[in-house]
Amino acid sequence: MGGYSAFGLLREAIRGASAWQALWEQRAPATAYDVVIVGGGGHGLATAYHLARHFGLRRVAVLERTLVGYGNVGRNTTIVRSNYLLPENQHFYEDSLRRWHTLGRELNYNIMFSPRGVLDLAASDDQWVACARRGNAMRLAGIDAELLDRTGVGRFARALDPSAPRQFQIHGGLLQRRAGTVRHDAVVWGYARAAARLGVHIIEHCEVLGVSRSAGRITGVETSRGPVAAERIGIAVAGRTAELARRLGIALPLETHLLQACVTEPVKPMLDTVLIYMFPHGGEVYVSQSDRGGLVFGGMLDGYPSMTQRGELTRVRDVAGALTSLLPQVKQLRLLRHWAGMNDMSMDGSPIIDRIGDDELYLNGGWCYGGFKAIPASGYAFAELIARGRAGDLIRPFRLSRFASGHVLDERGGGPFPARQ
Ligand SMILES: Cc1cc2nc3c(=O)[nH]c(=O)nc-3n(C[C@H](O)[C@H](O)[C@H](O)COP(=O)(O)OP(=O)(O)OC[C@H]3O[C@@H](n4cnc5c(N)ncnc54)[C@H](O)[C@@H]3O)c2cc1C
Repeated sequence: MGGYSAFGLLREAIRGASAWQALWEQRAPATAYDVVIVGGGGHGLATAYHLARHFGLRRVAVLERTLVGYGNVGRNTTIVRSNYLLPENQHFYEDSLRRWHTLGRELNYNIMFSPRGVLDLAASDDQWVACARRGNAMRLAGIDAELLDRTGVGRFARALDPSAPRQFQIHGGLLQRRAGTVRHDAVVWGYARAAARLGVHIIEHCEVLGVSRSAGRITGVETSRGPVAAERIGIAVAGRTAELARRLGIALPLETHLLQACVTEPVKPMLDTVLIYMFPHGGEVYVSQSDRGGLVFGGMLDGYPSMTQRGELTRVRDVAGALTSLLPQVKQLRLLRHWAGMNDMSMDGSPIIDRIGDDELYLNGGWCYGGFKAIPASGYAFAELIARGRAGDLIRPFRLSRFASGHVLDERGGGPFPARQ
């Protein structure tokens, strides 16, 4: 399979697009691999790509129970940012944001990265102070952040009239200009194609049901398509992490919760940034305009554990209400679709990336509702952990033992209540 280029695009436009090939080959699992990655979402595919590209492992397979990209990676609101308060999160997500800026070129795939800025709006004086605190922490860590007053908000976000009367007045905002959105499907296809070109086997409709052991040692996985031997196993199954871990006899501090997103009918370009509007007593809405013109927006979790992937209409109503309070001009737009994804909520809102015990079993999960933006950093760091058997600096704080030692990373101060994180 050749690389993509402007010349190739022109050639295929003239030839009637006859030479485009499938991005990866459909195949059955081989009997044995060096590494098996469970889960063909963003994290699994990125990990497989880096194992092959940077750590020289060629016998790598990604086993996916349904289709590549059908999980959360294809259901999210595509926002990428690194505007965190805690240093551990700042360094990790900043590494990821830097990688987003060059990923399209690295993968030779147009991931439609759009650094259009992410603006957190403060709906109270207290929130504005919290924005200032977070912004200062970011700047001290070398990450761009700008505190805007109400006039500055109006100047930056032209779709928004910050002084218009609304239930919660806008006091100002925290802007990260290098943040933005990335086309989620393109990320999946880009990583899958790049990994397949390096010899990674991507195997769809292959559910991992358990692990096989010999003399107490893990020797592979049991799948819906038979046993597959593997020297090392990496788990990256997002919303199904706790469920799969339970099958392996591992209890994790995770709960699966639903998060919904919605999209309106397409309209002409009206919003050229990402807005996040948090209410003083809970509730929020975040919104951006997609390349097709629809307003893509979402809010808080549905509030109780569920694996249904079907959200509550009451949440859609709340979030749509918050959106029209923020941008009254969208009131007449029709809602085209809403959908839900399953989030592996951890007890401190931060991820878990670790080796499990002394086995060659590695875990990547607890992404909550923020794991899309983490994919480039997580893919590299998880691959490094699997290849070398030890964690790099960026992910060391995300080890599982923090819940036993008390070194939790409670970014939002929500305590051990996943629905509040
Ligand atoms: C509505 C919504 C909006 C969101 N918005 C954002 C956002 O704006 N920014 C952001 O950063 N994050 C966002 N997120 C979170 C983000 O999408 C997730 O954290 C991230 O996609 C999870 O990682 P993943 O891509 O690897 O997961 P997934 O795509 O879910 O991949 C996991 C894969 O594992 C497979 N699998 C599960 N069990 C097995 C098994 N036993 N065997 C084989 N395969 C298995 C699944 O089928 C799935 O394909 C949002 C999430 C949702 C639901």
